Amino acid sequence: MDDFIARECAALSHALAAHDLLGTEELLIQMQRGWQQAKQHGDWPRWQEAIASLPDDAQGCFDASSNIVRIGPAHPDTDHIRNALQALCPWRKGPFCLYGVDIDTEWRSDMKWRRLAPALPDLHHAVVLDIGCGSGYHMWRMVDAGALAIGIDPSPLYAAQFAACKRGLAEIPAYYLPIGMEDLPGSFQGLDVVFSMGVLYHRRAPIEHLAQIRRLLRPGGTLMLETLIINGDAQQCLVPPGRYAKMRNVWFIPSLAMLEIWLQRTGFGHIQCINVSRTDSTEQRRTAW
Ligand code: SAH
Repeated sequence: MDDFIARECAALSHALAAHDLLGTEELLIQMQRGWQQAKQHGDWPRWQEAIASLPDDAQGCFDASSNIVRIGPAHPDTDHIRNALQALCPWRKGPFCLYGVDIDTEWRSDMKWRRLAPALPDLHHAVVLDIGCGSGYHMWRMVDAGALAIGIDPSPLYAAQFAACKRGLAEIPAYYLPIGMEDLPGSFQGLDVVFSMGVLYHRRAPIEHLAQIRRLLRPGGTLMLETLIINGDAQQCLVPPGRYAKMRNVWFIPSLAMLEIWLQRTGFGHIQCINVSRTDSTEQRRTAW
């Protein structure tokens, strides 16, 4: 795993050198630190063993152009691959097919991507940050659209899932930092696009979340924001007293009109609502994974 971490840090350093961003050295320090911290998780040795048993070369088989992100050619021993991948359960965000084994994740993250796709800015040669990237599913879709994708998420398990996917794909420009948003260096600036999806309502200080994203973007950069809203006017916002939709840790759910005010007040212009839809059990459901 140390080889993987060293390889990934060197590759991101090299990839970023071709772009005009500030604070990249500090970012790489956080990347190192984040992976070292993820390795402290009690299940890490078990996850690491599973990852190390996967092929380390996907032989150019990578396809993130449609719903299922496909990595690697079908392996003759599918039972072995399935067992290794099941050691990394629960797989929440996907779907994936790794070395011939389908991972039917709890979420159909492709549905979210399809809702955004018509309004995406041009991602060719764009440096993109995915805040709260989970297993990294959307990062592969971003890479497919031409981006250099950087994902951050403090969950060690999701970092391990990403490592399982990335292991055989050294050359693909998707890089994972197992850190929270609060660990991003203040000096890191100049991103073309920032994605914040499924994160804002988990923040105790949602307006500060938006302000931080504003500072991360280059002038003229784009925020793709996906979050929960309530029906209501510009003065309405829900602070649930406990769980919301069975989720813990939900703090502020604004109306669409109030969300627009938050965005204006934090310096965003050209605010556009792309899609409003209800999440149902075709998108999130219990699966074997
Ligand atoms: N963006 C994905 C996942 C959303 S779930 C999607 O839209 O499907 C929210 C994610 O935020 C989880 O993976 C969680 O681990 C991550 N998260 C939690 N605290 C965070 C923090 N402080 N900074 C960044 N991500 C965080």
